[in-house]
Amino acid sequence: MQRVTVLSGGMGGARFLQGLLHGIRSRSIVGLAPQAEVTVVANTADDIWVHGLKVCPDLDTVMYTLGDGIDPDRGWGRRDETWSVRTELEAYEVEPTWFGLGDRDVATHLVRTQMLDAGYPLSQVTQALCRRWDTGVRLLPMTDDRVETHVAVPDDASPSGRRVVHFQEYWVRLRAAVPAEAVVVVGLDDSSPAPGVVEAITEADLVLLPPSNPVVSVGTILGVPGIRDAVVATKAPVVGVSPIIGGTHVRGMAEQMLTAIGVDVSAAGVGLHYGSRSTGGVLDGWLVDEADADQLGALDAAGLAARAVPLYMTDPEATAAMAAAAIDLVR
Ligand code: GDP
Ligand code: CA
Repeated sequence: MQRVTVLSGGMGGARFLQGLLHGIRSRSIVGLAPQAEVTVVANTADDIWVHGLKVCPDLDTVMYTLGDGIDPDRGWGRRDETWSVRTELEAYEVEPTWFGLGDRDVATHLVRTQMLDAGYPLSQVTQALCRRWDTGVRLLPMTDDRVETHVAVPDDASPSGRRVVHFQEYWVRLRAAVPAEAVVVVGLDDSSPAPGVVEAITEADLVLLPPSNPVVSVGTILGVPGIRDAVVATKAPVVGVSPIIGGTHVRGMAEQMLTAIGVDVSAAGVGLHYGSRSTGGVLDGWLVDEADADQLGALDAAGLAARAVPLYMTDPEATAAMAAAAIDLVR
C-alpha cells in the first residue's frame, strides 16, 4: 500500500498520525511501503474567529504535532509558549478571555488571517503554513467553507431552557462539564470538500479513521456533502480505531458528544454507529482495545472485521503497532 488517507481531528488524530509515520519510517508496518504517502483530511468545524483572528485548532494540532512544534504536556499550541498577548487582552477586558492565544501561536493565526483576507482559500493557506513545518504528510482541511460546530447546553435563564454555544466555548470555557443536549454543525450541509479531498479518498490504497472524536471530528468530516459518499465508494479498505476504551474516552469529550447524539458510549457502539460498508456504513474493519474484547461478537455480527489489541497511544511505538494491526485486519 502506497497512498494512505486519514480523516483526523486534533489531539487523538495527531497522536495516531505520529505513530503511523513512525511505523512507516521504521518499516514496522507490514503492508505499507517505506515511501508511503499520507494525506490527512482534517476537521475544521472547531474553527473559531477570536480577536479578529481565524483559529483552526485541529489543523494546527496536526501541523504542530507532526512538525515537532507542539507543547507535549498540553497537547495543543506551541512548545515554550509565552502569554503576553493574552495578558494584555485581559487587561483591556476584551472577551473572550477564556480562549488561550499564546504569543507564538498568534503568529500562525496572523499569517492565516492575512492570507484569508487576501482571498486565498483555507486549503492554500494551510499548504503555505505547512511549508515551515516538516510534517511528513499532505494536510488538507475538510472544506474551504466556514463550518462551525455549536452545542446546546441547559440554561434555566432562557425561555427554551437551553442556550447554544460555540464548540470551543463548550470545551474550553465550560470544560464539557455540563451535558451537551444537541450538536448543531452550522454551514455543514452547504459546504463542499476542499480541493483534493475526494480524490485523496477515492484514489487511496487505504483509508484510516484514527481514534478521533466520532461526532465533532470524524462526524463533521463525513458530514461534508460528498465525503461520506467517497468513503463508501472507495476501492480502498477503510479501517477505524476506537476512541472509546472500557466505556470511556481516555481524554477529551467523546462521551458527552456520543451521548448528545444517542450513541452508546462503547467501542462497539461507535463501530456500529460508523457501520459496515456492506450495509451502507463507512467501515470494513474496526479495532477495539483488549478491554473491550467481549464486544467483538456484536461487531462481527454487523459485518465488521474486528480485533482487540492494546489501543492506548502511550508512545509512537505503541501507536505504530495499532496502525499495523489496523492494516493487518484488511490486508
Ligand atoms: P481533538 O480534536 O483534540 O478532540 O482530538 P480528536 O478528535 O482527534 O481525538 C479526541 C479523541 O481521542 C478523544 O475523544 C478520545 O476518545 C481519543 N483518545 C485520546 N487518547 C487516546 C488513546 O490513547 N487511545 C485511544 N484509543 N483513543 C484516545
Ligand atoms: Ca477538535
